[in-house]
Amino acid sequence: MKVVVDRSKCVSLGICEGLAPEIFVLNDEGELEVDDQADVDPADIELVRSAVSGCPVSALSVADD
Ligand code: SF4
Repeated sequence: MKVVVDRSKCVSLGICEGLAPEIFVLNDEGELEVDDQADVDPADIELVRSAVSGCPVSALSVADD
């Protein structure tokens, strides 16, 4: 499972970072930094799902392998 970010929707609210700070990071320019090429660690799947649900503009989703 990988994280998918629709950067055309992300408005840098940082809710995802608040929910899963080890996966989602806003840099100093307010751009979301997330490794969207790596498989999500199974231990982090619930955190990722909560961030996906918590994004108010539906910029996040997951892709199953
Ligand atoms: S919660 Fe959504 S809009 Fe906010 S930084 Fe994360 S992906 Fe972007």
